[in-house]
Amino acid sequence: MKLFADYHTHTVFSDGLGTVRENAASAAARGLSEVAITDHGPRNIVTGMKGLDKLNIMLEEVARVNRLDLGVKVLAGLEASVVSSSGELELSRRAIKQLDLLVAGLHPYFLPRQLKDLWHFVLPNHLGRVRRSSGAKLKNTNTKALTEAVRRYPVDIVSHPNFMMPVELQELAPVCAERNSSLEINTGHVYNKDMIVLAAQKAGAKLVINSDAHTPQRVGDLASGLALVERLKFPLQRVVNLRLE
Ligand SMILES: [Zn+2]
Ligand SMILES: [Zn+2]
Repeated sequence: MKLFADYHTHTVFSDGLGTVRENAASAAARGLSEVAITDHGPRNIVTGMKGLDKLNIMLEEVARVNRLDLGVKVLAGLEASVVSSSGELELSRRAIKQLDLLVAGLHPYFLPRQLKDLWHFVLPNHLGRVRRSSGAKLKNTNTKALTEAVRRYPVDIVSHPNFMMPVELQELAPVCAERNSSLEINTGHVYNKDMIVLAAQKAGAKLVINSDAHTPQRVGDLASGLALVERLKFPLQRVVNLRLE
């Protein structure tokens, strides 16, 4: 049994410290056969890619590193933020078509498209972390935004569900199952992931175990995710980056 891919890593194209080549070399050294570069999109405040023209440079860089034949296949992806309460992603459909892999997730620091979302979606998520009241309404808004994104776009992976921005996993998991999107077990963020595994199990959804590495050293650091799915007896054939042998 072996985790053969890490489908969520960051590089200097957004807030990671390593280059595409360094992430690829690290993945190869760990014995992975695939690694995805999934930097933050342009509407993520501070951490995001500076402008969408960077995307083309990233695509070229991924193609160049693949030609170096480091012993690992590099996929060009992006971690796109949901930027409206109706589930719009920060990327155009045209940009998405250029990617090998689309990761989508909720992040609290982004530029909303519409002012109303500042009041109903962005600010409550910041206040909610200070003030634990109004939780149910906020969870509802977040759940709707994320499930709509999964319905509207070809999302391969939902990154770190329920991290920082609470969502109803029992609602999200069936939509992921229906759309063939994987729920992520993110080994880079420390929070309770048991509910993700249990919700995916119940809904028949797939899981993926990713590092969310922001340094080359962390690429392929996936062991804690495998331990979690094994502890909860999740059906291992539904972990998309796990090879059973
Ligand atoms: Zn993220
Ligand atoms: Zn990430």
